[in-house]
Amino acid sequence: MERIRIPNDATYAPLSLLDVALTAPMVSRLLFRASLPGRAIQVAALGIYFGSAAQDWWERRGVRKIDFLRVYGADVRHLDEMPEETRRQEVRRLVEEANDGFTAERLPRPELAAEVDRHLTDYIAGITGQRVETSTEIRSFAVAQLIFPFALGACDFLSGDVAIFKDTGVFEPHVVAHEFAHRKGYWKELEAQALAYFANAASGNPILEQSARCERVHRHLRVLAGDDPDRYPTEVADAGLRSELEKHFTGIRPVPGAVAAKVETLMKRLYDERMRLTGQNGIQDYDLGFTNFLYTFERSSSAQRPAPEAVS
Ligand SMILES: [Zn+2]
Repeated sequence: MERIRIPNDATYAPLSLLDVALTAPMVSRLLFRASLPGRAIQVAALGIYFGSAAQDWWERRGVRKIDFLRVYGADVRHLDEMPEETRRQEVRRLVEEANDGFTAERLPRPELAAEVDRHLTDYIAGITGQRVETSTEIRSFAVAQLIFPFALGACDFLSGDVAIFKDTGVFEPHVVAHEFAHRKGYWKELEAQALAYFANAASGNPILEQSARCERVHRHLRVLAGDDPDRYPTEVADAGLRSELEKHFTGIRPVPGAVAAKVETLMKRLYDERMRLTGQNGIQDYDLGFTNFLYTFERSSSAQRPAPEAVS
């Protein structure tokens, strides 16, 4: 099988090069009361950063990307609206399966990253006939975390640098797979959501399968709760998840304090706007778009596609 290796050099740097470039002048002024060393570091970091991005771009030219509409019969622009009652039925079915298939097993993050990446690479190769190999490095901090406090992780589109901001428990394999899908060139949130889900669901690894199933339930519950942050805990409580799972569902969306809520609302609006500017439907693609996508795909009758197994 054809193999393309994206170097992702920036991801192996001890610190995020973009963060270094952003903060070096400020740190240097604070620590040394001088701006010159900071500037020099900034220029050096930017040089390596753009060098790495350019090299990745060069290697990426031969990548054949998945045509979502052709393969799944759905994409960002082609989604059927899932009726609420169907959504609630699916939640009941998935919760039952999640409760029955529960595993408390966890993998250390580096091991998890390698496992998730292997399945994602295999899954995509199964459709495109091409293995796109990328770095499995993950950071635990990035400046983006301070700017987008509601985000669980981030992928820098230019360098492929990935950061995971918090321990999300059962959701971690999904969050990692989502960021890795970005790293493999799928920038749209809906596409990253879908690929992460399908790859984990088809993995045969109970930890990854559990994550796919839980993410699907989690996104349904967010849609059902709507914009009201107080309704989400109620939806979670009513879902009937076993306690070991339920705590992860409440932990992933804590009710923010008053100030945090204002910042979050503002930054979410900016983020939503940025998504619309890049040909997406906005922040709803994470939950409404994602669940409507799976609904559209699974409902479409033409089953002659290289169909990934849905978690069921
Ligand atoms: Zn994303």
